[in-house]
Amino acid sequence: MPLHRQISAYFISKISSGAWPPGMRLIPQRELCRQLGVNRSTVVTALGQLAALGLIEGSRGGGTRVAASSRAGASGPDAAARSTGAAGQLGGNWNDYVEEGIHYPNLPAVQAINRLEYEAGLIRLGTGEPAPGLLPGESMRQVLLELAQNPLPPLSYEEPLGSLILRRAVSQELSKNGIEADPSSILITSGALQGLQLIALGLLPRGSTVLLEKPSYLYSIHAFQSAGVKFSGLPMDKDGLLPDQLAAAAIRSKAAMLYTIPSFHNPTGILMDAGRRDALMDIAGGLGLPILEDGAYQDLWLDDRPPNPLKARDREGRVLHLGTLSKAASPGLRIGWIVGPEPVVRRLADIKMQTDYGASSLSQLAAARWLEGGYHEQHLVLLRGKLRQRRDFMLQLLDIHFAGLASWNIPAGGFYIWLSLNGTLSLRRLFKAALQAGVLLNTGDLYDRSDSRHLRLSFAYASEDEMDHGIAALANIINNQMT
Ligand code: PMP
Repeated sequence: MPLHRQISAYFISKISSGAWPPGMRLIPQRELCRQLGVNRSTVVTALGQLAALGLIEGSRGGGTRVAASSRAGASGPDAAARSTGAAGQLGGNWNDYVEEGIHYPNLPAVQAINRLEYEAGLIRLGTGEPAPGLLPGESMRQVLLELAQNPLPPLSYEEPLGSLILRRAVSQELSKNGIEADPSSILITSGALQGLQLIALGLLPRGSTVLLEKPSYLYSIHAFQSAGVKFSGLPMDKDGLLPDQLAAAAIRSKAAMLYTIPSFHNPTGILMDAGRRDALMDIAGGLGLPILEDGAYQDLWLDDRPPNPLKARDREGRVLHLGTLSKAASPGLRIGWIVGPEPVVRRLADIKMQTDYGASSLSQLAAARWLEGGYHEQHLVLLRGKLRQRRDFMLQLLDIHFAGLASWNIPAGGFYIWLSLNGTLSLRRLFKAALQAGVLLNTGDLYDRSDSRHLRLSFAYASEDEMDHGIAALANIINNQMT
């Protein structure tokens, strides 16, 4: 069958099964060509056939939609509304529903990245997870073998705070960073991200304000905003948050909480020094300001061990501390934790029980063995060595290709180099041009909406060859676009 016919047949099957309901916006032609690997003319022919059949139509705001009258076989609330004769309040069309609901969608650029990360052949220069080759293959297999060689406990639901053996193992792990946490103060979550969701939903009133570093990872997801929480972003210097500014902003905004990533901040890589950590604890103590400390990257130090976490300095139960196995051992295991006062973790556990009834018990079992068996500690030593090498390699490339174009920090840990361009440009345009050249970027505006001159580079994902090629290509594009 000619290509254009294959494409139109595919569209027809989607429309007639109701997978693509009436009114659904189709992806733009250029993107369609890229995804299908065909010429524009092929796509134009296919779309022409579909329009002639009355299955698609141009939409008011530009672009193309599934035609409103393409109802053959359509399912969903519109079908229900027709059969009952009731006109759904939302217009009886799934497209109206998908714009509603309390959770905001991701930023379009984040949606694009989430999709593109699964396309083969792109050089991922900003990805926030370790490359598959950096994740433990053999030692994780060993863990799973050990589990399989012993009688397997029933994979029942776990208690609200999560598996006790895992909480004991996490408690042990935390003590290495000076955090004393009884298993009854630890809640196991499905990744640290769920910890953020639970806190946003369970602890913060709508309309309250959270202080945070700007830029921050938290701006790139909508967990807090969807819960009606507002942000007040704070500046940093090379040693982290500025205590005076923090105090002034906390008073001015009557902040409900401070969210901070003190060790190897995402996206800037900044490490908060010990003095700042003490100052921050003093200020928060004086103001009665609760702190949410995100320790996602704290064990990934590459030079010296970082100062102890804020939680290790906490004598008042002021700090909630988040941890995760995602950044070193396995992002897909989906195991993280929240450490905090017992009433707080119990409140969050109660919401978690209403959300997913607990993290996967198989994942919890594997995570417990991974930590208890000393595999984590051993893996961290190897991983730090490999990340150090990758960081130094990327820094060398930046020296070669970006001298005069940008400046950057030398991160003491984590995954990220925060590239600060010497001029401004349209980050959306840069993203597109880089994509055309086969390079996937995480631009600064994901982490601070007003940003127009930063890129989050990650040395954790692309191979050395890919970095070599990608950084050179990127410098070239930026050189052409920057004013
Ligand atoms: N916090 C920070 C600072 C992160 O960078 C991430 C992952 N990008 C998370 C939390 C969430 O990680 P996970 O849910 O995989 O544990």
